[in-house]
Amino acid sequence: MRKHRIFIVGMGPGREEMMTGEAVQALEQADVIVGYTVYLTLLGERFRDKEMLSTPMRQEKERCLLCFEEAAKGKRVALVCSGDAGIYGMASLMYEIGKDYPDTELVVIAGVTAANSGAAVLGAPINHDFCAISLSDLLTPWEKIGRRLRAAAAGDFSIVLYNPSSHKRKDYLRRACDILLESLEGERACGYVENIGREQTTAAVCTLRELRDREVNMFTTVFVGNSGTEIIDGKLVTKRGYQIE
Ligand code: SAH
Repeated sequence: MRKHRIFIVGMGPGREEMMTGEAVQALEQADVIVGYTVYLTLLGERFRDKEMLSTPMRQEKERCLLCFEEAAKGKRVALVCSGDAGIYGMASLMYEIGKDYPDTELVVIAGVTAANSGAAVLGAPINHDFCAISLSDLLTPWEKIGRRLRAAAAGDFSIVLYNPSSHKRKDYLRRACDILLESLEGERACGYVENIGREQTTAAVCTLRELRDREVNMFTTVFVGNSGTEIIDGKLVTKRGYQIE
């Protein structure tokens, strides 16, 4: 029997209503909630009485270590991540660091990731084979990101782009679109959603050529349709292939 347990909780895109019941339960049972400051602020009033600990952005390793240290004190610890903790989240780093803490069991609680919460806002853009690609080259070389974009286009996947922009990477969406435009037509149906599940959610549909010149920020998730994706009444729809007449 392991002595300690840490819950790694995906809190969904923002609003409490978009958190799973299991996630709410794990946070309610926790003595201490650890997370990036922005996510702790997003957690509703319901968790105000909890001890909250945070480390700044980019200090992911320190945040994980903090969880193990708090758990070793006998506290019930929940680490919160936005969306799902296993999709560009902290779950894998926790397992890697956890090798040094054999007394601690890790339990991952699934969350609603930006791909499906954003898809719901836009309509049904990933209703067939799709893939997710992050445009952040902090931990992945851009050369590999480019290779994955070309492979996704060649495979006719709908593509969800995470981390399409940041202060230091303003033109990355444009660069990604240019790579996709090497093989995809400029009229390809696309869309993007900013601030899913938070105040001021905004969404737009456009063509791939238009997407190339759009300004998005780090709270945006971008969708590129497959060859069968259509814009129907303002919604981005990837068909399954049913015959309807
Ligand atoms: N673990 C998260 C992803 C973290 S990577 C998840 O599963 O959703 C950070 C990227 O996720 C952002 O750059 C953006 O592309 C996307 N994202 C996360 N939350 C979002 C939100 N509320 N609205 C729009 N995009 C979001």
